[in-house]
Amino acid sequence: MTKRVALVGVIHEAMLSCPFPTGAETTTVLRGEEIIAQRPFLVRGMIDRLAEEDGVETVPLIFAKTWPGGGFERSFYDAFVAEAQQLLRDQGPFDAVALANHGAMEVEGLNEHGDTHFARLMREVTGDEIPYATAFDHHGQVTPELLEHVTVFTALREAPHRDDHDASYRAGELLLRCMAGEITPVRASVRVPLLMPGEWVMTDYEPAHGLFSGLAARARAEGVLNAEVLVGFAWNDNPWVGMQAMILADCNPAAAQAAAARLAQDIWDARVGFGLQMETAELDEGLACAAASVDSPVYVSDSGDNTSAGAGGDLTTVLQACIARPDITDAVVAGIFAPATVAQCLQAGQGAEVTLTLGAEHRTLPVTDTVVRGRVIACAATLDVPLGSGFSAGGIDWAVVDFGGVLAKFHADRVGISSPQHFEAMGIHPTDYAIYVVKFGYLMPQLEQIAARHIVLLTEGCANLDLRQQEFSRVARPAFPLDPVGDTPETVAFSAP
Ligand SMILES: [Zn+2]
Repeated sequence: MTKRVALVGVIHEAMLSCPFPTGAETTTVLRGEEIIAQRPFLVRGMIDRLAEEDGVETVPLIFAKTWPGGGFERSFYDAFVAEAQQLLRDQGPFDAVALANHGAMEVEGLNEHGDTHFARLMREVTGDEIPYATAFDHHGQVTPELLEHVTVFTALREAPHRDDHDASYRAGELLLRCMAGEITPVRASVRVPLLMPGEWVMTDYEPAHGLFSGLAARARAEGVLNAEVLVGFAWNDNPWVGMQAMILADCNPAAAQAAAARLAQDIWDARVGFGLQMETAELDEGLACAAASVDSPVYVSDSGDNTSAGAGGDLTTVLQACIARPDITDAVVAGIFAPATVAQCLQAGQGAEVTLTLGAEHRTLPVTDTVVRGRVIACAATLDVPLGSGFSAGGIDWAVVDFGGVLAKFHADRVGISSPQHFEAMGIHPTDYAIYVVKFGYLMPQLEQIAARHIVLLTEGCANLDLRQQEFSRVARPAFPLDPVGDTPETVAFSAP
């Protein structure tokens, strides 16, 4: 008899301090076969692995994805969960669930780890007997309860994320082995009190490279089914935030716990090696370096306002600095969220001279009132980028304004200009200018490929890369690098049968 696997989930990396909540307008909800057709990040590998198996049918129910940002509005989230539960009831019973969740979801007013809450509500419908599989993001978090709900797991092992197909394919493989009765998974995890922004644990550099690329061999050597490390999402002041050592073993809880403890110790021992290894600079110094660079184009990250980490994207700090500098005359500042500015430009029309007040729409930092003259060189009511080029910003108004050689791209909603196609869709060549400012930390792989040089500006914003500048009150202390800590971390270990 055909075994049926429900595909359901929600992928949201939420930044609690982002002033813009996430709701229906900024979330894509896919239903049924749309999910299969869109092949979402962190899901497509599972879809492919399940499709390869005879006698297994994937039943796509409902799936939501959104660009990182503020927590979900409660009303939107509750309606989504209710629909997911109804679909599980109506189309069940199922033999397994592919739970497509990221691990760093937040919901306004929930006061609980979002992904744990979601998994529990799915379990309320399906019961506890059938297996669930999840491929977590590198920046997800888990809780003891989530580990009870998720029977088998994998996680991304590369940052920048290039391995989402592999991670989710492995999750599908583990789920199938579990459904076939080949394995009886047990799970153990240790929370390691390390608060690390993603940029501090990039797998292009040591010690993260060795730690993450060695996970498969480590699992084999330990005789366990899988070993993963979650970097977590350290900007969110939550008790469960921190790095996580995760082990999946077959039948043997003691083996899982021992392997998780060893992995946690290795993560802890590597702590002083984690840090910013890309070229970094304070704002003015970094712009001076970019202006003087012989390598071109220079991609410059406005890291504090990194929308791929959920920051607001509303800050014009770097744009204002570029306009003020006589040595910058050939630059594009991309991805600024400024709806009123866009409306003003659309009304003025292409070719029109405009007087804009930069910073009038700041929400993350105080408003500024820098008045500048510019010319609208392009504007439109939609931004069409091909599927697969990263974040889709279709249907969002935008405008490009030329401030005497410094071009700024304004958007009516929060965006991630993550690929060359995003520039081309607005009539901007992605390599012809000397400098491109983007609201990221590390570059997405498609931009990484075309950048001759990359400089990370240590700017202010929700995604400030120095966590010591942020106030924490809920996160478990002591934690590195906030506090003085000894050689042995105060870890929190938990396991699930
Ligand atoms: Zn991530």
